[in-house]
Amino acid sequence: MQVLGSYVSGRWAQGTGAAQTLLNPATEEALATASSEGIDLAAALEHARRRGGPALRALSFAERGALLQAVADALQDARDELLQLGIANGGNTRSDAKFDIDGAIATLLAYAELGSALGAGRFLIDGEGLQLGRSPRFHGQHVAVPRHGVAVQVNAFNFPAWGFAEKAAAALLAGMPVLSKPATATAMVAHRAMQVIAEQKILPDGALSLLVGAPRDLPALLGAQDVLAFTGSGETGARIRALPNVIRHSVRVNVEADSLNAAVLGPDIEARSDMYELFLKDVLRDVTQKAGQKCTAIRRVLVPQEALAAVRDDLVEMLGAIRVGNPADQEVRMGPLASGAQLADVIAGMEMLGTESRRISGTSGRLLAKGFFVSPALFEYESDLQAKAVHDREVFGPVVSLLPYTEHPAAIVARGNGGLVCSLYSEDAAWLEQAVAGVAPWHGRIFLGHPKIELSPGPGTVLPQLVHGGPGRAGGGEELGGRRALSFYLQRVALEGSRPVIAGLARGGSA
Ligand code: NAP
Repeated sequence: MQVLGSYVSGRWAQGTGAAQTLLNPATEEALATASSEGIDLAAALEHARRRGGPALRALSFAERGALLQAVADALQDARDELLQLGIANGGNTRSDAKFDIDGAIATLLAYAELGSALGAGRFLIDGEGLQLGRSPRFHGQHVAVPRHGVAVQVNAFNFPAWGFAEKAAAALLAGMPVLSKPATATAMVAHRAMQVIAEQKILPDGALSLLVGAPRDLPALLGAQDVLAFTGSGETGARIRALPNVIRHSVRVNVEADSLNAAVLGPDIEARSDMYELFLKDVLRDVTQKAGQKCTAIRRVLVPQEALAAVRDDLVEMLGAIRVGNPADQEVRMGPLASGAQLADVIAGMEMLGTESRRISGTSGRLLAKGFFVSPALFEYESDLQAKAVHDREVFGPVVSLLPYTEHPAAIVARGNGGLVCSLYSEDAAWLEQAVAGVAPWHGRIFLGHPKIELSPGPGTVLPQLVHGGPGRAGGGEELGGRRALSFYLQRVALEGSRPVIAGLARGGSA
């Protein structure tokens, strides 16, 4: 069985002590073990700060972008191998694994391109310079410079490649070294990606490290120049935020957490229309892709009371046709959940939804004796009035709830208390305007479905150009968004002084 090491302090290191076993979630076959015990985390962080940081800061944005391009090329060369690992260790269908790995490569390429566009500067010029007094010599200019610490990036189990790449791309381009920590249960993809990058010596020493296994006290070791980008459960995010060192040293923390994403069908949409079909397609994709284990997946489907029966019947039929099984079989449309812990959590979540709604598709509990399978499930609510768990409990699996609305649905959507994405399907401009105004403050992204947009990836796909994150339950964080992604890793500083002096200093920056 493979023993996964960690790449820290510029070399591979094996953990000691009790290791966690990584499984194939379709067969429960043991594939690898991982332990971070005994690894000197403080030394790993210090190596990144002392070696990786200065090396990256010496490069221009264009040069850092070229490194991202080389990482993307290396992952592209290893794509087939990474896809196989995603299928075996993640329970992904081939299409699910492509979503993760191709998404990782595309995101790296997008930030490589941004680096090239930012050019020869080593820091960012933030806005126009300002005359500060009556004398034109008295001048101010905001700039944003790379922080001198290390960016610790903790990822969730569902996107081992994309999560790793999207976070690392932004930090490396900004000029900060990265220590990435994948979720242990599905770490084989990120581990292999790191092997490929390290073997080819693409990045400067210390620029990228990977810790495989338990995080131990990693967040407690961070200081004032470090940052922590976390993706996972809201509970873990809250625990990290409350750490004494995080509070005392104002460690910058970004949390990407849970979300009860809603899809809303407008009252103007007729059954069988192109918009209606798009809406159904997006819901079906989100319930089944990666077995519903996407932070952006639609969890709540809101439809006008009059459309309830049609939507229910169509979804029951579509979900019933989904073939669930071992994703190594190419006919299979939906694989298992990623781990036994996820299976237990999803079953508990479905039981909770079942106390206030009616299950109208799928079977309760475990589907097969071996493997962490459940069938796609649809729960129907008679009205929003008796609904509580559906707005409060993220069931991180192939589970969706259908709710009718009579009044404008924005208030129902807002009961989710903050989300990553809300999708709206309507051609009524006045209704859309009201809906956007109602849901926008609660979300990081609003997806406006339209059948004329060709090849729309739907609301569940996070794009490198647009921000990802959301207020409240979703963690209050923000990642990606093109150039916006860099700001988390940069310190904005106002330069105040004589205009020619500041102009000289600003020459090393990119506007
Ligand atoms: P989790 O238990 O919070 O784990 C997430 C990551 O945090 C893992 O790498 C885990 O490592 C690590 N971790 C656990 N305890 C930690 C601690 N005290 N300090 C530092 N790191 C710690 O979350 P999960 O249940 O596996 O993930 C599913 C959740 O992630 C879902 O709720 C989903 O909505 C959310 N998610 C959000 C987004 C987003 O972008 N907003 C994306 C994907 C998933 P180990 O694996 O070693 O325990």
